[in-house]
Amino acid sequence: MSIRIVAHWFCAACDVEGRGPGSDPSCWNCGGAVTVTARPAVPDHRSEEA
Ligand SMILES: [Zn+2]
Repeated sequence: MSIRIVAHWFCAACDVEGRGPGSDPSCWNCGGAVTVTARPAVPDHRSEEA
């Protein structure tokens, strides 16, 4: 079973949070750098791409 890394992040400049690619997330509002608050590995139940 493959897994997927999802980053939970927070942008202090915009006071928003979101999720994005685990490797290099960016703010959907300002496009700037974000502070990753959690980076869980979740099971990927879709077809294996790895
Ligand atoms: Zn932002």
